[in-house]
Amino acid sequence: MVMHPAIQQLLAHGPVVTDGAWGTELQARGLPVGEFPDAWNLTQPDRVAEVAQAYVAAGSQVILTNTFGANRIRLAENGLADRVAEINRRGVEISREAAGGKAAVFASMGPSGKLLLSGEVTAEELSAAFAEQARALAQAGADALVVETISDLEEGRLAVAAACQTGLPVVASAVFDSGKDKDRTMMGSTPEQAANALAAAGAEVIGANCGQGIAGFHAICKRLRATTDRPIWIKANAGLPKLVDGRAVYETAPEEFASHVPKLLELGANFIGGCCGTNPEFIRAVVRVVRNPASA
Ligand SMILES: [Zn+2]
Repeated sequence: MVMHPAIQQLLAHGPVVTDGAWGTELQARGLPVGEFPDAWNLTQPDRVAEVAQAYVAAGSQVILTNTFGANRIRLAENGLADRVAEINRRGVEISREAAGGKAAVFASMGPSGKLLLSGEVTAEELSAAFAEQARALAQAGADALVVETISDLEEGRLAVAAACQTGLPVVASAVFDSGKDKDRTMMGSTPEQAANALAAAGAEVIGANCGQGIAGFHAICKRLRATTDRPIWIKANAGLPKLVDGRAVYETAPEEFASHVPKLLELGANFIGGCCGTNPEFIRAVVRVVRNPASA
């Protein structure tokens, strides 16, 4: 398969460092736990911009957008069904301005939160919701779309197919947090099944994010690499969260996190960053190690 020129250009000089978590960073800036983060694109754009700016300053070459939950299905649950286009557009604009030409803007698309299997939502409803979000993100000028935190491959395939209709390159990233070896999605799919299904749906880049600490990503990265020739995207959590006073606390330190990066690059990762619990300090540490692997 011929790589999309935008992805090829990014990877031309070696591995690309992405960003870290948004949700936990917005909480650090006052977003109440349990409140819907994407609404902040309209009500607290300066705080959303601070997160994006902090990642660019830390050396992220790709930053995401605060649009993880901005599909019609999740927005409707938060009384925002009539703001789909606006929330997605503002999300891209905020990240684009923060990037200031120094980072590419990959727009985030998360799951619907509804289960296909139990009939809570239909495939048609999912396709329509993801297509609407993808269109809004593309029209706002995103460089690529990231369908992330996929736990149901069927939903992931629908989202990837909808995202591909925009013509932008699409990253598809699944969560492996189930099974005794933590190498299955919630629905029981393996990295091999995920890589094959998501690539067949049109994803340009295949990845894994969230779910577990970075040590658990070695085996997953290796298996994705062995299954697909497409670039690999890895965003691990800062360990498994412990609940302290109702807040998730992550225990992996930035240097420890970054010490796993040379191995992940050796195993085939092309894009590397962090998920829940990581912050700009983690990205700074990852950038140091990517530039000089001997420092890990
Ligand atoms: Zn996460």
